[in-house]
Formats: sequence, C-alpha cells, structure tokens
Amino acid sequence: MCAATSPIDCHSLPDAAGHFGQFGGVYVPETLMTALQELTAAYEQAKADPLYRAELRHHLKEFAGRPTELYYAERLTTHCGGAKIFFKREDLLHTGAHKINNAIGQVLLAIRMGKKRIIAETGAGQHGVATAAVCAKFGLQCVIYMGAVDMERQALNVFRMRLMGAEVRGVEAGQKTLKDAVNEAMRDWVTNVRDTHYILGSALGAHPYPMMVRDFHRVIGQEAKEQIIAREGRLPDEIVACVGGGSNAIGVFFDFLQEATVKLIGVEAGGRGIKLGEHAARFEGGKLGVLQGSKTYILQNPDGQIELTHSVSAGLDYAAIGPEHAYYRDIGRIGYAYATDDEVMETFQLVSRLEGIIPALESTHAIVEGLKRAKALPKDKIVLINLSGRGDKDVNQVAKMLGVKLF
Ligand SMILES: *Cc1c(COP(=O)(O)O)cnc(C)c1O
Repeated sequence: MCAATSPIDCHSLPDAAGHFGQFGGVYVPETLMTALQELTAAYEQAKADPLYRAELRHHLKEFAGRPTELYYAERLTTHCGGAKIFFKREDLLHTGAHKINNAIGQVLLAIRMGKKRIIAETGAGQHGVATAAVCAKFGLQCVIYMGAVDMERQALNVFRMRLMGAEVRGVEAGQKTLKDAVNEAMRDWVTNVRDTHYILGSALGAHPYPMMVRDFHRVIGQEAKEQIIAREGRLPDEIVACVGGGSNAIGVFFDFLQEATVKLIGVEAGGRGIKLGEHAARFEGGKLGVLQGSKTYILQNPDGQIELTHSVSAGLDYAAIGPEHAYYRDIGRIGYAYATDDEVMETFQLVSRLEGIIPALESTHAIVEGLKRAKALPKDKIVLINLSGRGDKDVNQVAKMLGVKLF
C-alpha cells in the first residue's frame, strides 16, 4: 500500500486484494473467486517473464502497429490561438482504437494458461472486433456477448466480428445493452471457466482486471512521454483523455502520475446535459456503490438501482467508472470534466475539416476539453490529447444526426 501522504507515489496500487484506496476489490460470486485468483497468479507470473514481454512487444508491433505516432495538430493549434496541441494517434492501430493493446495482452495470457476458448462483452462493438481479430490470428474459439439493441445499432461491427470467425450472441435481458452483455459473459465464465478466458474490455470489474487492463495500455503513455521529449525537449503541461470505463485514459496518464508539473484531465460523457438519465458522467452525481465486481462511483437512482445513461458515443455510455479513476479523483491527482453531445458533434466536424483526421466520437470528448484548455493557455504550453480511436465507425450515425441521407 502507498503512504497516504504521497498519493502520487502509488505505483504499487492496487494492493494485493485489488484496492485503490477504498475503491476496486473483488465483489463476485464465490464460484468466480478461484478463476480470478488463478488469473491474478498467471498474470503476475507472465508479467515477470521476459519471454511473455518480448512476445507481447512483438505482436503489438507487427499485428497492432505500435508505436503509434505523436502528431502536431498545427491547424487546430492556430485555430485555437493558444497552447500547442498534439494527438497521440491510437486511432492508427489495427481495428481502429486502443482496445487491441489489451486484447493482445489477454489472449497471450489465455494461451499461457492453456485456455482455448475466449469470451468477451462488447457495447459499441469495438472491443468485440479487437478480440475477434486477435482470436482469429491465434486460432482461438471466440464468443462475443452483445446486447440486442447494440447489435442493431452496430450492425457493421457485428458483421466484422462474424467475418473474423467469432460467434456473436445477442443478449435479450434488461436494457439489452452493455451492462447486460457483461452479466451474460460472467454467467458463461462461471459455467465454462475450465477452458475459457474472459477478456474484459476496460479498466473495470473485479481485480485483477482494472490493474491488468491498465498495464496493457501503459504503453500509450510510455511512448507519448518519449515522443514529446524527443520532439519538444520537455513534458506536456496537460494531458486529456476520454473516460468510459477508463482504459485509454489510465493508459496514457499512468507514466505521468508522478510528474507533478503535468495536469491530467479525464473527460466523461455529458450527453444531453447533467440530468439523471441523460448523461454518463459518473463524477457528476454518481454515488459510491458496487457494480459488476468493483466498488466505484456509479450513476444510480435514489433507490440504488442502476440509472439509465445516455451518450452520443456508445463507448462512453456506462453507469460505472473504473475504480482507479475514482481513487485519483478523490485524492485530487486527476481532474475530470465532461463534454456534451452537441459540443462533440461540432468538434467532430471541426477536427475532420482542419486536420484531415476523423476522430471517434468517444475521443472527440477529449478533444472538446483539450481545445478549451489550449485556448486558455499561452503559446509556449503543450496540450496532449489521446486520440483513442478513429471515427469511421461513427460516420453513418453522424450523417443521420446531421440529416444527410447516404443511401
Ligand atoms: C471503447 C472506447 C473508449 C472507451 O473506453 P475506455 O476504456 O474508457 O478507454 C474510448 N474511445 C474509443 C475509440 C473506444 O473504442
């Protein structure tokens, strides 16, 4: 455990039981305890094995396309008239977002553990596509759980997964979206844990997932640190990333936590505004609770039932935030803001026009906040924005919202 007096020295977090301060932990049925303990042990062993690390590095390079570029957004910088704006280009990775970092790490771990079957949940379909791609590459059986409503909204991603050999199972329970898909995946895991590994897609859930998923995305911040120093001779002043479960954000932030001069800002989904049920900004009215294995901030109604959430971007539309974010928010090391659907729609078009880069709607939340901050800073400052994914997946939805008929 870290000393409470030096909160940013907490690279030892979580503790052995998976706690980040009062957050995180392992709140699961008894039947899953053994599987999670086995996974924790296997992960600790793999992490210490130079062979595993070399293999991971190799596939991140050859299959995913790492390292990703650090890009100077020159026209956006001029447009804002303030700090220099840089993008960390996770959108250039294979399958279109940072998610493949985690999918590769966990598939290699599953292979080490002798598991031949992979299951995963997906909301927008991005984690499902990344998992299906890596399973195809390594010849593993792959089952993806997806809410029936999401399957309809993201039909193209369902087809992509099936093309790559995954079985996509629709979930008809509850709201038929991500939360319900996670429940089904956990149910499958309990039943088939002997030969099955569950690849959770964000820095969420029971220990060791928040720690493990973070570790697989740390490469984003490690590369960014090297790249900005090589290019500008110093660290950035502010780093901004969008926060769904929190994996791309904690990945880019982690290696800067101990750099006291670097401000870190996570951006949640403000949806149609901060009214219960209209957004997914957990730090704007969320309360401490337990959801799907972890204690953290959760949007809930006065009875403690999980509240409906809304965001223009499916990848940020979830009622709980990763426990490590809850911790760093409480101790004041990471600040959090939100961007509304309207701001995101406007900035999505602005970035496409000025930079020739179509960002994912999720990532656009980070850009909205990054541009506000760049405008308020002098020209010798640097704002680094994590561009977590590309917007190709979103253009149909955006066209529809703009009233443009494509077919
Ligand atoms: C899934 C996704 C997110 C949200 O997930 P995090 O775990 O919070 O990173 C953000 N951006 C993109 C492009 C995504 O696909």
